[in-house]
Amino acid sequence: MTRPGRLAVGIVGAGRVGAVVGNALRAVGHSVVAASGASATTLERIGAMLPGVPVVDVDEVVRRAEVVLLTVPDDALAGLVRGLADLGVWRPGQIVVHMAGRFGVDVLRPAQAVGAFPMAVHPAMTFTGTSLDLARLVGCPFAVTAAPVVLPIAQALVLEIGGEPVVLPEAARAPYHAALSHGANHLVTLVAQAERVLEAVGVEDAGHFLAPLLTAALDGTLRGGEAALTGPVARGDSGTVAEHLRALATLAGQDERLVDVPPAYVALARATVQRALAGRRFPERQAQALLDALAAGEGVAADVSTLDAGRLAGDSRSPDGRPPDGRHTGSPVIDGRPAPVLVTTREKLAETLPTLPGRRAVVMTMGALHAGHLELVRQARRHADHVVVTIFVNPLQFAAGEDLDRYPRDLEGDLAALSDVGADLVFAPSPDVVYPGGPPVVRVSAGHVGDVWEGAVRPGHFDGVLTVVLKLLHLTRPHVALFGQKDAQQLAAIRRMVRDLDVDVDVVAVPIQRDVDGLALSSRNAYLTAQQRSSALALSQALRAGEDAARAGAGPGEVVEAARRVLRDAQEREPGVVVVDYITLINPDDLAELDAGYRGDALLAVAARVGSTRLIDNALVHLGARPGPDPAGE
Ligand code: AMP
Repeated sequence: MTRPGRLAVGIVGAGRVGAVVGNALRAVGHSVVAASGASATTLERIGAMLPGVPVVDVDEVVRRAEVVLLTVPDDALAGLVRGLADLGVWRPGQIVVHMAGRFGVDVLRPAQAVGAFPMAVHPAMTFTGTSLDLARLVGCPFAVTAAPVVLPIAQALVLEIGGEPVVLPEAARAPYHAALSHGANHLVTLVAQAERVLEAVGVEDAGHFLAPLLTAALDGTLRGGEAALTGPVARGDSGTVAEHLRALATLAGQDERLVDVPPAYVALARATVQRALAGRRFPERQAQALLDALAAGEGVAADVSTLDAGRLAGDSRSPDGRPPDGRHTGSPVIDGRPAPVLVTTREKLAETLPTLPGRRAVVMTMGALHAGHLELVRQARRHADHVVVTIFVNPLQFAAGEDLDRYPRDLEGDLAALSDVGADLVFAPSPDVVYPGGPPVVRVSAGHVGDVWEGAVRPGHFDGVLTVVLKLLHLTRPHVALFGQKDAQQLAAIRRMVRDLDVDVDVVAVPIQRDVDGLALSSRNAYLTAQQRSSALALSQALRAGEDAARAGAGPGEVVEAARRVLRDAQEREPGVVVVDYITLINPDDLAELDAGYRGDALLAVAARVGSTRLIDNALVHLGARPGPDPAGE
């Protein structure tokens, strides 16, 4: 018989959690009046954990209960609550408790609409669905979300079954649940990966072997947080990290069950570097060395995982998942022109170059090709008999925290676009092909050109660019190399390198290609939302204002001021959207600032962040009246 003040509890979908919580509520004197469940396992569980409780239809459970426990899968919850509302079974004053981690009480609104009291109660624990679970409830933290007036009821229910209620606001539920899944579920994945690697190298009973170390690491972290971190990343030992990645990639290449390990190692090591850097465990220079090692190793990891995808699909791709080296890709033949030959290794490149006789041009890109890149290839055809395009996202020119990881990559799309414009050969190496021994020890220095404007905002960037440009020139051995005026400072640095280091190549600049509204084409435009894209027009509009001023005979100061005014207006219209890094008028060759009385060609350059996207643009202007027709020659 129900004791006075005790509640009639109904359990919908008596899964593991429902069964154990129902059992616990019963143990403290509440009455479980009905339960529902469809699968044989659930019915069996009800028989074992809730003996004597009648199994009825879901709507009948709700009709009989004062407290309804909804313990259905997360994805089914919203539909169930709505369906029961449509049936008209919710009642005023009824307590409706769901136990899904990621939801607050919003999902129970259809019940609340008729006067029921919604509550979300979620134990931060995993259950077996057996009586063993009862002990796990004691001291188990429960996340509790409810309106303030009914919050004490939710807290009391948790306390009654031995749990510890922790109040969470509605908006915190999804991140709360993500944290639990990330910590608990991904821990399982991680530990299982470590076990598989150990087993692959012959360690028997890897779980037993790992237990003391992993238990100590877990205890240490729970007690002392990140201070518990030890190991090569914590020591800034990039050589060991590089070696780990090489070893894991080799194993993964031999054993399909390990293909998920290298990318997981890279992702977690990268996060570990960031945390170690935030905790000032080592200087940024050391962090960069680690990140470089990870980026170099990532190419190998990516190759292995695409290999697996290829194997699973049963195709005959080469080990890097790309179409086999030296063969035409499967992309369509357009206008009778075959798709370019794709090579990904130095050896294949060296083998293929002699098949392109005559004058050779190179266009270097980071892929995610747009019409600006394609114009470089079109122009290249005018300068040479054959065109080689390189596609390589160069880790060396990205600083920690920049967009190396999310930089857009679309090799298939790039190859299709390149057949349109008649590229002959595409060299798309991975980082370990370009940097086989890890990050290079000897690098090209851009000198003072690398320290100003872009170089000042992105220290080391131009050294990374020049190093890879020189390497790619050596590898592709072109007569002419084409670069976009879009990256005017890069162009100046490359021209300077070619001159200072006697590199035997002609450098040709190609004007900036723009969208119809004036926005300079860039692979990074893909990051912009429609709203940000429209805000980004302030850059090209500012340059146009500067050009107009120069044409009207303005001096350097006035030209910059005209451009700056447009940016200021944009910032006033939408505060905080466009953040200008610099707007400047400089010498296009050495990037030096101009004297007030300067006459001649000048580079008006701007860099700004729109949201989290960094954009650059520029215009070449002429200061001072151009020499008119020679009167004597008339
Ligand atoms: P990226 O892939 O961004 O490294 O660019 C590869 C080459 O294309 C560089 O020489 C760029 O200057 C050039 N480029 C990129 N965008 C444009 C553009 N909108 N107009 C002309 N050249 C461009």
